Amino acid sequence: MSASGGIVIIGAGEAGGRTALQLREAGFDGPVTLVGDEIHLPYERPPLSKDALTDADDTAPRAITSPEAVSAANITFLPSATATSIDRETKTVLLADGVELAYDSLVLATGASPRRLPMAGDIRHCVYLRTHDDALRIRAGLARGGHVAIIGGGFIGLEIAASARRRGCDVTIIEAQPRLLMRGVPAGIADVIQREHESHGARVLLGTGLASISDTGEQALITLADGSTLLADLVVIGIGATPNTALAEAAGLAIDNGISVDQHLRTSDPSIVAVGDCASFPAALFDNRRIRLESWRSTHDHARVAATNLAGGEAVIDAVPWFWSDQYGLGLQVAGLADEGVTLVRRDLGDDAFILFSVAADGRLVAASGIGPGNAVARDIRLAEMLIAKRAHSGSAPARITRHETEGTSRLNN
Ligand code: FAD
Ligand code: NAP
Repeated sequence: MSASGGIVIIGAGEAGGRTALQLREAGFDGPVTLVGDEIHLPYERPPLSKDALTDADDTAPRAITSPEAVSAANITFLPSATATSIDRETKTVLLADGVELAYDSLVLATGASPRRLPMAGDIRHCVYLRTHDDALRIRAGLARGGHVAIIGGGFIGLEIAASARRRGCDVTIIEAQPRLLMRGVPAGIADVIQREHESHGARVLLGTGLASISDTGEQALITLADGSTLLADLVVIGIGATPNTALAEAAGLAIDNGISVDQHLRTSDPSIVAVGDCASFPAALFDNRRIRLESWRSTHDHARVAATNLAGGEAVIDAVPWFWSDQYGLGLQVAGLADEGVTLVRRDLGDDAFILFSVAADGRLVAASGIGPGNAVARDIRLAEMLIAKRAHSGSAPARITRHETEGTSRLNN
């Protein structure tokens, strides 16, 4: 049992790691213990589907801190340590090796796990991507000329598809929905992304279900719902992620599409907060609609708010949701919640870059989704983000943030 409680953080990913570091910035000077079931220091996951698959050399994970900084901040980091239960009565966390950690406050930063495809079972050609070790395994399977089948046309699937084409693999993307990124972006942006993949030689199968996957020895045999088949050397499955809530659920905390927290990120137990992909929270900018974000920026916002509150403050989570994706030379950025809109307004930024503004029924700007070469949309998305935060109405918003308009409006269809 640890001598003094202090703050225990379960999960040493982006959210847990940043919360630990931010606690010191916020002035908390008690004990901080960071428990992570991976062997690595907290690291960034975005490179795992991008540079980690294409860089010439085997890459080490991109750590968000260093052993020296962890030591200087007097954070006790326990790698390869799994928390197996929480006793809220005694305020202790039990680790798999039998160690008990006492806490005054507990942070749950357990992240999310890839949704499993039951028919893939334990076929050795089928892989998922969440960790650095997963990325190394996928990287090793991207042999030039090999065939990579990607199940799921979401962010993981599309970013890995782009990386696999860069490595000289043949790529087939199999998506059950009628278009790519059905939930992630408006159709106009998904079309651009699909064309980019096809122009780089990937095959995109939309509205395509799966019947079975089997192991032929050297390859996997995928049978599609229409009876056609394809052989693949590697099958990457990217069909979404589910929040890691088991510990919280077993401890009796409220769960609602993630560990349910209030605007201060407190769970139904005031001594416990939850941050990052595992937490669902009320979105202050959107009538406190409960949302759960799986995005890099959101972990930073959560870490700042949680650390401030654990150090005695009363910060609220009110940031504009924002994420990006890079595929080939294209940069996508989305600020706000596109599904809050009923109308889309397109603005052309030149050089094949454009933004689709999502406007709510009352004329309020609720999201901006931009795509273009490299960083072409970054500045305008940043400006849109500020207007979304101010609850600006579209009458003034697009004129202030765009250079010229090329199209009228269309219905939002996702
Ligand atoms: P995680 O990073 O999942 O960390 C949770 C940690 O807790 C893990 O290490 C887990 O093993 C550990 N853990 C869980 N349970 C326990 C336990 N009981 N005991 C001990 N440890 C435990 N977002 C973007 O905005 N843009 C991008 O381009 C982008 N690219 C991405 C690419 C990939 C491949 C992935 C996987 C994600 C990407 N994201 C991107 C999303 C972003 O990385 C995540 O939202 C972010 O990593 C979430 O951080 P987290 O700390 O909440 O969860
Ligand atoms: P995702 O973006 O939710 O996409 C999954 C896609 O697979 C959806 O289009 C989904 O359709 C589809 N699908 C579901 N079941 C299927 C099936 N049986 N056959 C074929 N397609 C199926 O999730 P993801 O791409 O797997 O990403 C997982 C995690 O990584 C998330 O946390 C994500 O945020 C993170 N990530 C983020 C980025 C980024 O932000 N740039 C990049 C990489 C990874 P439905 O909508 O119908 O379910």
